[in-house]
Amino acid sequence: MKTISPAPKVETDHPEAEAALVAFIQRLVHDSSTVQAIESGEVDAILDPASGRALLLPEARAALRRGETSTNQLLATLPREEYQRLLAGLVPVTLALGDVLHEPGELIRQIYFPNEGLLVSLLTLVENHEALEIGLVGSEGMVGLPLAQGIGMSSVRTVVQGTGTALRMESAGFREALETCPALQRALHRYTHALIAQITQTAACNRFHQVEARLARWLLMASDRLQSDPIRFTHEWLADLLGVRRVGITVAASALQQRKLIQYSRGNITILDREGLKASACECYQKIKDIFDRAESWPADTVLAEKPNTVGTMAHI
Ligand SMILES: [Zn+2]
Repeated sequence: MKTISPAPKVETDHPEAEAALVAFIQRLVHDSSTVQAIESGEVDAILDPASGRALLLPEARAALRRGETSTNQLLATLPREEYQRLLAGLVPVTLALGDVLHEPGELIRQIYFPNEGLLVSLLTLVENHEALEIGLVGSEGMVGLPLAQGIGMSSVRTVVQGTGTALRMESAGFREALETCPALQRALHRYTHALIAQITQTAACNRFHQVEARLARWLLMASDRLQSDPIRFTHEWLADLLGVRRVGITVAASALQQRKLIQYSRGNITILDREGLKASACECYQKIKDIFDRAESWPADTVLAEKPNTVGTMAHI
């Protein structure tokens, strides 16, 4: 097996995690041309065929932390000229757990393109109940989607789940730019279709499926978008999101932990056995994932290399 030598260097607060990532990437890469591309800095991410995840190389990850780059998949599909038109209005921001971006019935003043690692919940408000989650948005999407359809008002509350980064744009600038960006329009049409499908499936899931299967489904969806472990959520927070009593989440999480599918402590949930967790999840996880995968059939390695402000090329192995 070929190895990457020297290993990519990066300044990091988590050297052990970075070393593990480099070792994992070394195990994935087999052909010499990919190894050479990584060594010369031409490749910034590797597509893991097993999980379907894009694994950022450490230098790209560091650039992301410094706010020099974006890993939003919608922006990644855009031709260079369109991206340049948007660039002037995009502002890198760091968002924290509990930040409310939009409220139902209020104007959408800004839209957000989440980067890898940021998770945003779409919540619907029901009188005398906690806000119920009806959708999740990560780096595959955009927050403030009604604006892309010409609707300036939000119908949901959008809340950040955990600290992460995004590119923010003022609504007026977004509307103006959208008119001259047909590729972005097409990407947002595909994403709108996928998000509606997710919301539709979530409605059925909330009605028909057991708490344990729903919790497994939610952890997998969150993990796909956060792209990191552990997932930091309290039982109370999860109970509110899933619309169940706290004890229901405690029982379900205990059952998953006893089967060694997850491990949790002090609000940190780590997925130990992804395939096992998939088997415990309701059908909704795969259905939603399949819809997004089909909608996201955009080529990941075509335009990124041309854009100075985004992650570069991705190696398919
Ligand atoms: Zn379900």
